[in-house]
Amino acid sequence: MDISIIIPIYNEEQNIRPLTESVLEVLSTLGKSYEIIFVDDGSTDGSLREMNEAADKIPLIKVVSFKRNFGQTAAMAAGFDYSSGEIIIPMDGDLQNDPHDIPRLLAKMEEGYDVVSGWRRHRKDHTLVRNFPSHVANKIISIISRVPLHDYGCTLKAYRRDVIEDVRLYGEMHRFIPIYAVWHGARVTEIEVTHHPRKFGKSKYGIERTMKVILDLIVIKFLGQYVQKPIHIFGFLGILSIIGGFLAGIWALLLKMIYGISFIKTPLPQLCVLLFVLGFNAILMGLLAEICIRIYYETGNKRTYLVRENRNVQSESRKLK
Ligand code: UDP
Ligand code: MG
Repeated sequence: MDISIIIPIYNEEQNIRPLTESVLEVLSTLGKSYEIIFVDDGSTDGSLREMNEAADKIPLIKVVSFKRNFGQTAAMAAGFDYSSGEIIIPMDGDLQNDPHDIPRLLAKMEEGYDVVSGWRRHRKDHTLVRNFPSHVANKIISIISRVPLHDYGCTLKAYRRDVIEDVRLYGEMHRFIPIYAVWHGARVTEIEVTHHPRKFGKSKYGIERTMKVILDLIVIKFLGQYVQKPIHIFGFLGILSIIGGFLAGIWALLLKMIYGISFIKTPLPQLCVLLFVLGFNAILMGLLAEICIRIYYETGNKRTYLVRENRNVQSESRKLK
């Protein structure tokens, strides 16, 4: 199988038929083998019926239906799990992404990229509630992750299968797949894609999503940079805190000895104790995190590095088994 199109669906009844027609029309011109996987994320309208009707007519259309709503990320993860294409292309099920961009994504992949990310440069959502916060969030993500993309949130992207194979998606983290991919040595680029306003149905998200995205980013940054050495970040903050506590203590002592100012007249002794306690706790948490990470790597024999290719070595060495 060459291409798997993954479409998460949550209450998109009226969109499914026109979307299916338009995706099929584009795919049939490519001369490649393909499948379309609809993941029904616990829809409560007629979406599942529409998907099943399409699948009954055309066997290349596959449907995975969740028992309840698990969220768009889980729906995409299920789509990846059930797919068999060499290239995997997720897209929204609300006709906001344009299937006519698929050939352009594929052409870019052929230049040797592992991930081609869609950029909704002229995004057709609410300016104040959606576009502006998303613009700011994208800027922050690209600075912090050092993966220079303009639009992490755009579902329409193309992935080479091996990029996605080892990625475990938690919470609402599908928009960070390109970042994971770069960490795993993938070549990532982006192209502008068309974006349409939503015609049928409602958006499932509001402004609160931006906040969640920023929180997720903290997790991603931590995982990316410190997962193999958590004591470095916890310990660093802990030591800073202890130094602060020490300075506060010295200051309080000097005030007392030189100017005769009583300990209870300044907040310095409290600050000293507080910073000492915080500092020790941070270091202890770092040690706990170190233990956790050892458990993580040693269960299931996970390796702390990734190899692109080897020459003249036995890849299945005894130690690696
Ligand atoms: N979606 C989903 N599960 C959810 C929320 C959304 O599968 O819990 C799907 C939804 O049906 C659509 C895609 O994810 O196909 C994007 O959702 P939406 O259009 O609401 O997001 P927006 O375009 O407003 O960012
Ligand atoms: Mg949408």
